[in-house]
Amino acid sequence: MNKPPSVPEHFDAVVVGAGFAGLYMLYRLRELGLSVRAFDSAADVGGTWYWNRYPGARCDIPTTDYAYTFDPDLEKEWTWSEKYATQPEILDYLRLVADRHSLRSDIEFSAAVTSARWDEQEERWAITTSSGQEIRCRYYIMATGCLSMPKSSEIEGAGRFGGQVYFTSRWPHEGADFTGQRVAVIGTGSSGIQSIPLIARQASQLTVFQRTANFSIPAHNGPPSADRLKRLDEDRDEYRHAARWSRGGIPTDLTDVFGMTASEAVRRERFEAAWAQGELFGILNVFADQGFNPASNDIVATMIREKIRSTVKDPGTAEALSPKDHYFGTKRPCLDSGYFETFNLPHVRLVDLRTQPIVSITEEGIETADESFGFDAIVYATGFDAMTGALVAADITGRDGWSLKEKWAAGPSTYLGLMTAGFPNLFMLTAPGSPSVLSNMAVSIEQHVDWVAGCLKDMREAGFETIEPTALAESGWDQHVQDCAAITLYPTASSWYMGANVPGKPRVFLPYIGGVDAYRKACDDVVEQDYLGFRMTGPGRARCHDGVVRRMQPDVALVLELLATLGLPPMDTLSAADARALMAATAATRPPGPEVGEVMDGVIPVPAGDLPYRLYRPAGLPEGPHPLVVYFHGGGWVLGNLDSDDPLCRDLCARSGAVVVSVNYRHAPEDRYPAAALDAFAAVQWVDANAIELGGIPGQLAVAGWSAGANIAAVACQLARDAGGPHISGQLLICPVVDSDLTRPSYQDNGDGYILTTALMRWFWDHYADPADRGDPLAAPLRGNLEGLPPTCIVTADFDPLRDEGVAYARALEAAGVPARLTRARGHIHTSLTMVDVVISGAPVRAEIGEALRTFFPNAVPQEPVS
Ligand SMILES: Cc1cc2nc3c(=O)[nH]c(=O)nc-3n(C[C@H](O)[C@H](O)[C@H](O)COP(=O)(O)OP(=O)(O)OC[C@H]3O[C@@H](n4cnc5c(N)ncnc54)[C@H](O)[C@@H]3O)c2cc1C
Repeated sequence: MNKPPSVPEHFDAVVVGAGFAGLYMLYRLRELGLSVRAFDSAADVGGTWYWNRYPGARCDIPTTDYAYTFDPDLEKEWTWSEKYATQPEILDYLRLVADRHSLRSDIEFSAAVTSARWDEQEERWAITTSSGQEIRCRYYIMATGCLSMPKSSEIEGAGRFGGQVYFTSRWPHEGADFTGQRVAVIGTGSSGIQSIPLIARQASQLTVFQRTANFSIPAHNGPPSADRLKRLDEDRDEYRHAARWSRGGIPTDLTDVFGMTASEAVRRERFEAAWAQGELFGILNVFADQGFNPASNDIVATMIREKIRSTVKDPGTAEALSPKDHYFGTKRPCLDSGYFETFNLPHVRLVDLRTQPIVSITEEGIETADESFGFDAIVYATGFDAMTGALVAADITGRDGWSLKEKWAAGPSTYLGLMTAGFPNLFMLTAPGSPSVLSNMAVSIEQHVDWVAGCLKDMREAGFETIEPTALAESGWDQHVQDCAAITLYPTASSWYMGANVPGKPRVFLPYIGGVDAYRKACDDVVEQDYLGFRMTGPGRARCHDGVVRRMQPDVALVLELLATLGLPPMDTLSAADARALMAATAATRPPGPEVGEVMDGVIPVPAGDLPYRLYRPAGLPEGPHPLVVYFHGGGWVLGNLDSDDPLCRDLCARSGAVVVSVNYRHAPEDRYPAAALDAFAAVQWVDANAIELGGIPGQLAVAGWSAGANIAAVACQLARDAGGPHISGQLLICPVVDSDLTRPSYQDNGDGYILTTALMRWFWDHYADPADRGDPLAAPLRGNLEGLPPTCIVTADFDPLRDEGVAYARALEAAGVPARLTRARGHIHTSLTMVDVVISGAPVRAEIGEALRTFFPNAVPQEPVS
């Protein structure tokens, strides 16, 4: 373009990248009246679709959906020729967009941005390009792509090969002709899987070198989906709206069929329908639980492997092509057109690098541990340094001389995947922490760009010139991104989502898996709360509403959302009988909890009558005896029974290796204070006296309880101490009621909206105890003498009205010289730890609980905890 000027040029904004994201960003910034210069190292617009010209390159999101929506006239004028368009057609589309909006005049092509430095004095970015230009701008926007930085080859001797070398991501514009050639393709990710069938048509010999077998389903390409076209024709706005508020950026009816509970016929029917549809979000939605339940995932994976075996004739090749080292979906699945069939051709061969690794590339070809191969051409389909590669490739220096590379050395950190602290006015589109590669990126990109444009507009109107996330907001978002990933199977795979394909790259789950809808809502919430977590400054002014936008565990939030849709009456408006019936009905459909060795019911004779109990014995050897845990269920002294906490008791038993004896006690209002507490103490005495008969180790007895059950467990400990026995090795109090003061801050913070409400707690107390009795240590153990009590583990949940009294009990116990361990269930509510196999994020907390229980019994026979 122009000769480099000797003085820096000034722009309001610089955009790097002229793909889907950069083009739309440029359009929106111009619309705001800002002066903008864009750069791309490519010679034209298109980004991904400029570079990836390999044979068979196509999108894998239906073209009805993989398109801009900001230009209604373009939507009307453009028609896609195929369900999944080829690279040339998508590139034509992006060129048309650039032409329609005259975007090229503000883009400098074949120019890479090599460095960007934040000038603290000027509050401007100082940018240099590969052509030596210097630019100053206030806003610096990296639309550099998440799959734009090819991964460098790690293979020994790669430069030595004397034949033709091709990279799928840097394919020559004139194409490649493999007619009559011996060709090697290295890599079987999406690009390999798309190109291999077409290369096989020309090559005289094709050898495919596979490191990881990948799941792929047939694309069934053809004309665009009639169903989707019909829905678009009927109501385009509604369809686009549904896409924007969908999980993946495509309108999809999320199934509520769980793989584990579906019949064989339903499983097969759902799978075959998804297979026939040939859409990624369809095959990822066969079962509601396939993304987090290994057994459910395995049903889908097994059916795909069956398809591979029935397609590929050579059993050895079929076996090697069948993915077995990762759960389906945890690496990006591929859509193919005749990929597996290609291996039935006589001139196509698969080399499994797991059994026959490449030793080096030679001048003539490739040498593996067992063989030497001669080739005329080698095609590298080895993927990308995804999501972070292009961002850290440019030398970006923020405040205090800190580079982005240094900041992200241990893994990227962003707020909303859009900005990062220490780098004011630097926006990133589809960065780590955004749904990006897990979504239809056209939808995500439009959302990101709209958000950034809206933000700049709001800043201007409010007189601000810089914006930067706070450390608190950013670490909160990073945590949320990891929390969302942790409840899925995704982090278990060595995938590029985890950075695992690039040697030395930190293993961090990069994209936001909470969904396009949840992400959009979080971004909107940030704006609504005066740009929560951002600091903005302008001439003579600054504003910062600091905070964390998502503190709740994502699966807890989903449970609350689901409950809200059921429209259940508040418990505190019901009679005790109706509340019990409602609780039993909601418990009936939940998962059963883990298997244990034995479950048996019995009764405990106490002075007031027989108390039913249920005993859970750990599975496996040694058969016992085991330590004993006497457990009391929750339910505000009014609700609950042996069934209500059954999954939790199984979980405690399996994790601790102890025999758990869950005791039902008398309930209010039929039997009011102190009946429940006295029953608890009597039950502990009986279990201690009958330890041997129950399969327990005499003297190795702990008590445990949840909520009001923890209340009577705590009281039983105080009574046992006062009575001189039985000896109690430890008490586990999960979200306990230990006081009757309903004014603590946690009641203010969490008294409404998180299942256990202040109103419900009041209802429980009213049923259980007269106001005059509520301060008595038998009702409020926090107010009793705490000296000489057994070692204690207290679990509190962030969004629990009872949180602060639990903390107060732990502190008071410590002050009284009692070893007290406080476990904080981050992002949880009062009930979520009991929701075994529903609230997956509760599992690590219950693992800590199991560990705490084991420490109560140091002399017990060691038990294998469940993993
Ligand atoms: C083969 C392939 C198929 C895909 N199919 C789909 C699909 O079907 N659906 C889907 O949602 N997503 C798909 N993707 C993801 C795809 O990357 C996005 O959909 C989308 O095209 C990304 O647009 P972008 O503008 O963010 O980035 P890109 O299109 O990657 O553009 C980034 C641009 O920035 C330029 N750049 C980077 N760094 C610099 C620098 N320092 N200086 C100057 N220029 C720079 C690059 O040259 C590039 O042109 C696919 C990706 C690949 C590789």
